[in-house]
Amino acid sequence: MFKKVLVANRGEIALRVIRACRELGVQTVAVYSEADRESLHVRFADDDVCIGPAPARDSYLRIPRIIAAAEITGADAIHPGYGFLAENAEFAETCAASNITFIGPTPEQIRLMGNKAEARKTMQACGVPTVPGTPGPIDDPDAALEFAKSIGFPVIIKASAGGGGKGMRVARDAEEFLRSFGLARSEALSAFGDGDVYVEKYLERPRHIEFQILGDTHGTVIHLGERDCSIQRRHQKLIEEAPSPAMTPALRAAMGDAAVRGAKSINYVGAGTIEMLLDSDGSYYFMEMNTRIQVEHPVTEQLTGVDLVKEQIRVAAGEPLSVSETPELRGHVIECRINAEDPARGFQPSPGRIDVFHPPGGPGVRLDTHAYAGYRVPPYYDSMIAKLIVQGKNRDEALRRMVLALESFIIEGVTTTAPFLAKVLEHPEFREGNFDTKFLERELTTILQQPA
Ligand code: ADP
Repeated sequence: MFKKVLVANRGEIALRVIRACRELGVQTVAVYSEADRESLHVRFADDDVCIGPAPARDSYLRIPRIIAAAEITGADAIHPGYGFLAENAEFAETCAASNITFIGPTPEQIRLMGNKAEARKTMQACGVPTVPGTPGPIDDPDAALEFAKSIGFPVIIKASAGGGGKGMRVARDAEEFLRSFGLARSEALSAFGDGDVYVEKYLERPRHIEFQILGDTHGTVIHLGERDCSIQRRHQKLIEEAPSPAMTPALRAAMGDAAVRGAKSINYVGAGTIEMLLDSDGSYYFMEMNTRIQVEHPVTEQLTGVDLVKEQIRVAAGEPLSVSETPELRGHVIECRINAEDPARGFQPSPGRIDVFHPPGGPGVRLDTHAYAGYRVPPYYDSMIAKLIVQGKNRDEALRRMVLALESFIIEGVTTTAPFLAKVLEHPEFREGNFDTKFLERELTTILQQPA
């Protein structure tokens, strides 16, 4: 096992990783920007190193500074969390070159799955269905238009290197397609340094269903069930739950088999997620693979009893997975991402000092957060301040628990999305489990007008 793990991240995930290390008897190093000096992850770690000014490009994204921090403190492994450098193959390579273990998959696996067009080809080669689309990147607008016409509108133009809900454009007819195609290419180039785009069929009312994957260096690859992440705003997830209300044991077996087949075909090591779209007619398609721990991983942890972060650390140290097959899925779990944002003002960020912070509790309630009374939410990073996860014996109990937990969660000083999320949970269609990725967009005005 490692002696000391450096956590190359901030916020709740840095705390989450530090907790896992402590349980394993491993020491920890926190790195932080000047804006995060007062952060809890700094206080909880055994060692801490300031790596630069507030902007992420000058601190959390600076590879040489993070490697130097590991060397100075004697860390023998680095956990990247999610975001920042978590899916940066060059970072994983630099760790290896510096004799530091990167807690995650290999640089080759990161690179292969990081390019969506390449990832599609890999999945097709092992018989995993993908959304009908161009065989790879396409640069000629006329050829691309011909292709779009052949599969039929609407289509979606996606940046091969895209991520985080960015680099996607929907086109509903030829005119819009030609306009969007050039824009998509230049946006991809400026946002990701890679102008490659490909075209695929745009599904009108799909669900976003993803499978949690774990693999080890001894050849075991398993899935730990699905998460339904269809409640999204601008392609960003707000609420996740498992099991999916749309799932049946037969569909789970088929989709889970496909996910495991895909991950096995690249000998996947560590925690990863195969994201799929489930269409209203029951067909499902691979969309992308994330080669890291996900924000919503606690949903699966509660449902299965498996500590995914500890598994990541053990696997990176060469140990076998502690589970060899899909565990029993226990009850129903829902997660709400609570952001310091104002829904009434177009979800504008609401940074500032948290004056009062009174978290909910009780049976089946888990809160992953780095916030506390007196904490200043900095304006430089994403606005998520807490993840509230509840478990019930069935969906109905989990829903009731979540609404009560949101209502009794008192945060003063910054505006949060908690009251908005409670209203989403009370929407009749959500209650019935009858929703898709466009649900929130369609119902947004109605939900915003509901009294809290
Ligand atoms: P990112 O890597 O930026 O997260 P994804 O490829 O995972 O992008 O897609 C994010 C979301 O965009 C999906 O959850 C879904 O809501 C929507 N989306 C992506 N591809 C399609 C498609 N072909 N049809 C309909 N919706 C799509």
